[in-house]
Amino acid sequence: MSPHTACAAELISFLRSSPTAFHAAASAAALLVEQGFIRLEEQAAWGRLAAGKYFVLRNESSLIGFTWNSSGPFRMIGAHTDSPSLKLKPNPLRREQGCLQLGVEIYGGALLRPWFDRELSLAGRVAWRDKNGGLSSALLDFQRPLAVIPSLAIHLNREANKQQEMNAQTDMTPLIGLAAETAAAFQELLLEELRRCRPEAEPAGIIDHELFLYDPAPPTLTGLKGEFITGARLDNLVSCFAAAQALRSADSGLNCLIVLNDHEEVGSVSAAGAQGSFLRDVLERLRPDPEERQAALRGSFFISADNAHAVHPNFAAKHDSLHLPQLGKGPVIKFNANQRYATTAASAAAFRQLCAKAEVPVQEFVSRSDMGCGSTIGPLTAAELGVETVDVGIPSLAMHSIRETAASVDCWHLCRVLQTFFQP
Ligand SMILES: [Zn+2]
Repeated sequence: MSPHTACAAELISFLRSSPTAFHAAASAAALLVEQGFIRLEEQAAWGRLAAGKYFVLRNESSLIGFTWNSSGPFRMIGAHTDSPSLKLKPNPLRREQGCLQLGVEIYGGALLRPWFDRELSLAGRVAWRDKNGGLSSALLDFQRPLAVIPSLAIHLNREANKQQEMNAQTDMTPLIGLAAETAAAFQELLLEELRRCRPEAEPAGIIDHELFLYDPAPPTLTGLKGEFITGARLDNLVSCFAAAQALRSADSGLNCLIVLNDHEEVGSVSAAGAQGSFLRDVLERLRPDPEERQAALRGSFFISADNAHAVHPNFAAKHDSLHLPQLGKGPVIKFNANQRYATTAASAAAFRQLCAKAEVPVQEFVSRSDMGCGSTIGPLTAAELGVETVDVGIPSLAMHSIRETAASVDCWHLCRVLQTFFQP
């Protein structure tokens, strides 16, 4: 098996085990534990850490992993663990016309149309009470089809193939059963799954939940020669995977760090998000002396990795004609005059050099001047830490759809360039 094929197979398994940000953080942690990384707890004092390999989780949905030596600047990679989705409301069950349905909120900027007519499963975190009244939490992943959002038949809406607005409150409500089922049946479903995932648990009841719908159809290689990888949450789990793989093989003489943040898709303002204190808190513990920390950060470099928009062959006019990132042609450096991306001439040039060293092609993206532009955790981290940052990502299509498309060779390109970054 070529390293490229092996990388694609491992990526597919990472995607399958990561239906939510909680699971993505757990999957990244598992990759690090396999390689001897030690888990630190934020609730404990760390003292002066011995040189070594560590990671820490916050909210079970954000992860910082690092190789630590007491001196020298940091080489950092950032990505996000969350993806647009449908999240269950606290009291989700409702009955309409003989059907039992789930009330949902839209999480992030989801492309809604592709959510219709697919078998959907549920995953996320539950808070549960044991028989002594103690509270615990657990990650659940049902993995099997549980719900569906049927389209309205075209006979009842002849305009369906034209532009169509969707109402998040009334149109996106999945069916989970027939109305004869009771609320107790849903509680029992959660309890059953909790007992399956945590056989040692003796739950007396589920108290609260953060559950998301997702498409359990696995990601796969598609195309004449399997050129494409199609699957959910490529934005931004491809970058999380590549960052974790790079850290696994990082040179132990360097301070290499990855930060995988939750809540990027909803603006990053949270305890676990990139506008929260997680990265700053960890860096302050590692380098308690402010002046020494400032000096180290000024000499550091941050790669913010998040998928980019490849030019869509059916919609090429949506791109600037001189900036057309193509599938399979390597990672994309993202530029924006208004600092929606943190890239500077210096950071872009440094990244190009890194790509040359890794023997990986590189491309550029800037949005059309008459169109808006997304953003990433790059500018937030650059602003918070004052660290030199470049925004990059693999080119992909159908971003924020329930199933996205990228070139599998680009995943390999990204892994290689990030691995090279973590070498002397
Ligand atoms: Zn993203």
